[in-house]
Amino acid sequence: MLKSQLFRGDTRLQAAADSNPGHIVPGDRGEHVKKIQLALNQLDNAGLNPDGIYGQKTANAVLAYKQKRGIINHTYQNEADNIVGIMTMKALDEELPPAGDDGGGEVAFVGMSASGVCEVEGAKKGSGPQQTQQPSAKTLIAIPLLEPKVRIVIAAATFKLNSADQFVKSNEKLVIPTGPFQANARSAVKLLIDVFSLDKHKNPRPGFENIRRVFFNMNVALNRSFETDPLIAPLLFVPNTLVSQEKVAFAYTSAGGAFLKSSKTKLKGLGVPADRIYICDALMKENELFQISTMVHELAHFVSGQPILISHDHGVPKGGQFLKGAKDKLDKITPEAKLRSPEHYAFFAMIAGFKRLDTD
Ligand SMILES: [Zn+2]
Repeated sequence: MLKSQLFRGDTRLQAAADSNPGHIVPGDRGEHVKKIQLALNQLDNAGLNPDGIYGQKTANAVLAYKQKRGIINHTYQNEADNIVGIMTMKALDEELPPAGDDGGGEVAFVGMSASGVCEVEGAKKGSGPQQTQQPSAKTLIAIPLLEPKVRIVIAAATFKLNSADQFVKSNEKLVIPTGPFQANARSAVKLLIDVFSLDKHKNPRPGFENIRRVFFNMNVALNRSFETDPLIAPLLFVPNTLVSQEKVAFAYTSAGGAFLKSSKTKLKGLGVPADRIYICDALMKENELFQISTMVHELAHFVSGQPILISHDHGVPKGGQFLKGAKDKLDKITPEAKLRSPEHYAFFAMIAGFKRLDTD
């Protein structure tokens, strides 16, 4: 099946990719020829007028494309020709940007409610078009002030992980290092044990790698949103504009939303793009440490799925709010579940970074 954005779904091109009678040859005309011209312009700077007519210029560009890549069907020829057959279609399709897996559709969302319950939600029966409101001025102002602080705690968490790295060994129980000059490593390993129970893993290394990848992905998401060019900077934290969500949530997003390639996929029942994190005005009434922690919690959901999905399934408590006295409850889950719990990532980052935060 053709998989590029440009070619996918074109039956004439698909025929050319599948069988010899489907060859596209000089003299052909049509939308499918136009797409080949566009592909050659994009991949080889062929400079063709995309008129859908397979004339001499197009034929020359096809020949040049095939020569450059050594596309020759040795069963019947010794040199490249100017027709578009199975091998050429395959090469063009592979070089072109793939069609995203974001062809629309809906995904469930996860949201932290004011009561501290973070649930997976979907369309409610009869949920029609959502009533919207202007983003609150308070949230609009607060987000750019909070985002650098999220950045600080993520950086602090990354520093901790780097400090612990050499002490987390494959197939060896994790123990707190005791040597001299290892204060950083000691506190880092202790934090991994306190928050993620990494000492309970027979082999702590894969769990450690998971944690590190999650924080790495959070950094990537934050740095992308840091781009100043609005054309390439995707949105990350945005104010909520749905009246219904304002009543029930502090913040919400989709698990894995960071990996969507466009804004076509919507949150189920809400109709808003799934590729960002929504911050509600209700969160603005909370203290700043809790606001930052909630943003990291949502960020953990958002960047998850590669490699592990961070959700509230499979024994991961729906309650967040480590910072609000839920520690006992959150400590009780299995060490494996802790690796899939957004609140544990948030807590790790908050403990790692709170001394660097200038909060009131
Ligand atoms: Zn959650």
